[in-house]
Amino acid sequence: MEIKRIGVLGAGTMGNGIAQVAAQSGHEVVMRDIEQRFIDGGMESIKKNLSRGVKKGRITEEQMETTLSRIKPTLDMGDLSGSDLVIEAVIEDAELKKSAFREIDELCGDHVIIATNTSSISITDLASAMERPEKFIGMHFMNPVPLMKLVEVIRGLQTSNETTSVILALAEKMGKTPVEVNDYPGFIANRLLMPMINEAAFCLMEGVAARESIDTVMKLGMNHPMGPLELADLIGLDVCLFIMEVLYNDFNDSKYRPCPLLKKMVNAGYLGRKTGKGFYDYSR
Ligand code: NAD
Repeated sequence: MEIKRIGVLGAGTMGNGIAQVAAQSGHEVVMRDIEQRFIDGGMESIKKNLSRGVKKGRITEEQMETTLSRIKPTLDMGDLSGSDLVIEAVIEDAELKKSAFREIDELCGDHVIIATNTSSISITDLASAMERPEKFIGMHFMNPVPLMKLVEVIRGLQTSNETTSVILALAEKMGKTPVEVNDYPGFIANRLLMPMINEAAFCLMEGVAARESIDTVMKLGMNHPMGPLELADLIGLDVCLFIMEVLYNDFNDSKYRPCPLLKKMVNAGYLGRKTGKGFYDYSR
């Protein structure tokens, strides 16, 4: 099966990045959101990214125009009807995602594959909303999508081999390096990353070292480009806590217990860069 038309659900941080790389790799794209301002924001972000590419000589002006002409922004779910694949990147809410999948299932023919960009919800559980769970899969892009090479391709319990091969090939066509993963909480990326961030918060809480020292150890000692605490501020402390809670609850294992300091900071509204304060202060 060849994927020609791709629907992208959600024009936010991830949705607009996915729409951009899908169009850059030659696909016709329909990007749908629920309000005009989200659509406009998504298109603005794509234009800004592509213009930066032109300025840096990575793409030509003509390539930028061709890419933009392949993306149709819309508020109408019906416009997704001709899609071979719909990639879902709406907010992290299982019920909202499931109701969108039921709608797509009805709108598009039997051949449509649905991929979700969820960071933490079980692929097998989300597939339970579908008539054809064998055509449902996880496609976990990293932020920022145009720059990051990795895509975790996550097989739910019922995902077919054919669906998996089509999506692995598509990810490569998009210039990404796909990694095939089975559906377990946190997949690979968040199962490794979030406990590291959580443990860094424990180190800070217990007074093992100052925040800068904890980050320096991981940067200079392990060659990480960012320390775990500054990375947590970038991701959002609420997102980190949410994923730790998924790991803790879904594995029923105390080794994933969220750090009390992380909980306290989220309760105080210290969510990281987006609120001006997290482990570090960004207000100045
Ligand atoms: P976001 O809030 O930036 O964007 C979500 C968009 O979905 C919003 O514009 C919202 O209006 C739209 N939306 C809501 N309901 C919709 C509907 N029914 N139809 C169409 N659009 C709808 O969120 P995001 O950061 O782009 O995250 C999207 C998904 O990607 C989440 O599942 C998240 O867990 C996952 N994810 C996020 C990151 C990240 O770093 N931000 C990384 C990997 C995966």
